[in-house]
Amino acid sequence: MKSTYKRRRFLHHFGQATIAVSGLTLASFDALSETLVSAEKKSGKSINQARKLGIALVGLGQYSEKQLAPALQETKNCRLAGIVTGTPEKIDKWKEKYNIPDKNVYNYLNFDSIKDNPDIDIVYIVLPNSMHAEYTIRAAKAGKHVICEKPMATSVKDCEAMIKACKDAGKMLSIGYRLHFEPHNMKMAELGKKKTYGKIKKVIAIDSQEIEAGAWRLDRERAGGGPLMDLGIYCVQGALYTVGENPVSVSAKEGEKTDINKFAEVEQSIDFQLEFPGGAVANCHTSYAEQGNTLRAEAEKGWFELDPAYGYDGLKGKTSQGDMDIENVNQQALQMDDFADCVANKKPTRVPGEMGLRDVKILMAVYEAARSGKPVPLKL
Ligand code: NAD
Repeated sequence: MKSTYKRRRFLHHFGQATIAVSGLTLASFDALSETLVSAEKKSGKSINQARKLGIALVGLGQYSEKQLAPALQETKNCRLAGIVTGTPEKIDKWKEKYNIPDKNVYNYLNFDSIKDNPDIDIVYIVLPNSMHAEYTIRAAKAGKHVICEKPMATSVKDCEAMIKACKDAGKMLSIGYRLHFEPHNMKMAELGKKKTYGKIKKVIAIDSQEIEAGAWRLDRERAGGGPLMDLGIYCVQGALYTVGENPVSVSAKEGEKTDINKFAEVEQSIDFQLEFPGGAVANCHTSYAEQGNTLRAEAEKGWFELDPAYGYDGLKGKTSQGDMDIENVNQQALQMDDFADCVANKKPTRVPGEMGLRDVKILMAVYEAARSGKPVPLKL
């Protein structure tokens, strides 16, 4: 129990370093943690003495309630300071649970007055996909830094407008790509980058989840598409950080619909293939009618994979040489702490709006390739 606490404290303080140290044994994590904590005590200084930056969550649905708000109880650089909701019945519960004062509670109409609230430094957009652009732009105009959930938006044009609005306001923009703070996934990136198993020939990326009828995720207007926008984006991300290159071409084929009513507006499933300049190909599959959660790389001298790969917890990795012995972490806490650190210390985020734009360009090209039945070249 004690060691788990120490490791967690270590990971929280040094989230940035997890990529570099993810190959360490748990014993060496403890030793390193001990050294750093005692250095902190000796100097009498905390590693980050700045005030915790205030985050306001916009949209209090599943992801805010079950993941982000609890993660904000574990962050060291930021805290849950405000909420923005269109559902008045949620307010009292959130205020009480997280000690949020009335002055930090907003609705979608008075949201813009958040500009006058010095408690809020960062606005985190956790709304249906088609609303990301409007709220990111309004938050930037209100003088706040922004974290926007994935997918960044439902069109390339919206992504560009969001980046411009944040630039014009002199504010930072990042995308909620939590897996860039997750050591299993970053191990995949490291093994790919270092060519530990030689040049990658093939990546297999699958992210599928069954969905209930009636969800906004099945509504083209609000979701921008089906499982590709919601889940397939993890396949795109996984393939790109594992191969370490941007793809140059994509081909795609939409799957058959077995439930024509549920999937009246969006695809039920889609297969797509990304081609990379170094010769690697990524075969990706995403569906709303089955389960699947894999990221696998096959290289000249071996293979490495995660299964499950993209969840919040319980991720597991293997290579052709054996199991990856890596601890699961609180991804959202590390992600938000890192962004708060970037804002406080004027450092670039590793998951900027430009990355969100790149991915939306790829998703749109996947749809175009499926529609036309022809490969679509990508200039990223
Ligand atoms: P959800 O349906 O649980 O919550 C959506 C929230 O938006 C609700 O509070 C709802 O009241 C509000 N809302 C406002 N206007 C709405 C409208 N017109 N239609 C529907 N809801 C409306 O969804 P969620 O799972 O919390 O997803 C929200 C966003 O977060 C999505 O963009 C999703 O892709 C993203 N997300 C990211 C992750 C991740 O791991 N990074 C995980 C889950 C969701």
